[in-house]
Amino acid sequence: MPRLLILYTGGTIGMRPSPAGYVPGEGFAERLETQLAAHGGEALPTYRLVEMAPAIDSANLEPQAWNRLVEALARHWADHDGMVILHGTDTLAYTASALSFMLGALDKPVVLTGAQIPLGQPRSDAPGNLALAMQAAAHSAAPREVCLAFHDRLLRGNRARKVDSLAMAAFDSPNAPWLGQAGIELQLDTTAALPAGQPDFTAARFEDDRVALLHCHPGLSRRLVASLLEDPTLQGLVLVSYGTGNPPELSGELAAHLARATARGVAIVNVTQCHRSGVRQGAYASGGALNAAGVIAGQDLTPEAALTKLQVLLGRGLRGATLRQAMATALRGEMSLPAAG
Ligand code: ASP
Repeated sequence: MPRLLILYTGGTIGMRPSPAGYVPGEGFAERLETQLAAHGGEALPTYRLVEMAPAIDSANLEPQAWNRLVEALARHWADHDGMVILHGTDTLAYTASALSFMLGALDKPVVLTGAQIPLGQPRSDAPGNLALAMQAAAHSAAPREVCLAFHDRLLRGNRARKVDSLAMAAFDSPNAPWLGQAGIELQLDTTAALPAGQPDFTAARFEDDRVALLHCHPGLSRRLVASLLEDPTLQGLVLVSYGTGNPPELSGELAAHLARATARGVAIVNVTQCHRSGVRQGAYASGGALNAAGVIAGQDLTPEAALTKLQVLLGRGLRGATLRQAMATALRGEMSLPAAG
């Protein structure tokens, strides 16, 4: 019987109601055991639970937590066949993306999950999500990559997005096929599997001032854009533009600021605000100016994947042409590159 590691980080799955709303609760190990026992847990793989302290609401997640997760995975990797991470849903897609870039190729599955309703509450989706994550992590044909299991779907972690704040089907990967789907049986799609390898457990040096995300909107302030792009600590920017990758031109001021920033060595990646498909930088003159300004076309990267990829690569010391090259390359299946020609 495969043995799993379960890392508990907090989130709704383990929260308790309080007069102020849901808060991270204590005594998770006991509740997990009781609830799994009540939901056919004897048929699930055996596990060892490690609680990350303190349990948090994932809205308070800081990138440093990814180093702590990688460290915990490294410590327990050899003794387990698959890893499950319990996490709040709000930033689950960020953590799944960040871990995919930090760990690189894997020889065992890492499956993240959470819940919309806490374990033990009426109609909780936690037992189902947990069982799916545990079965996927223990499956001999499971993808050797960072995945997200939620509401009968197994998704590539760095393609996943929280697409619904209230529904149980809270996650999807709009630009990538699901890696698996659970009906009565768990069906895995092994055709898109990434090559397996040995994980990299190296820590990254995260610094919040290095990276920002600029979401374009009508009325974008020239002054605020200038202050962001001229900030000397900025080293990476995700530009979240309209449609096929078009930002407002601001009478040429935006492209000029972007060009000055890229000339200083800032890596700028352009992704779309659209839920599906990606950028075609240059299909319109407004987007074409970005090519001239040295902005990297982020193809169909999600904003979460673009941001965390920049954070991890900068945190691992990549700069200049090497960083730009890595950002334009699919490292862990995070983007579809356009067909040649
Ligand atoms: N705020 C919670 C969290 O992300 C939401 C959840 O887990 O569903 O920790």
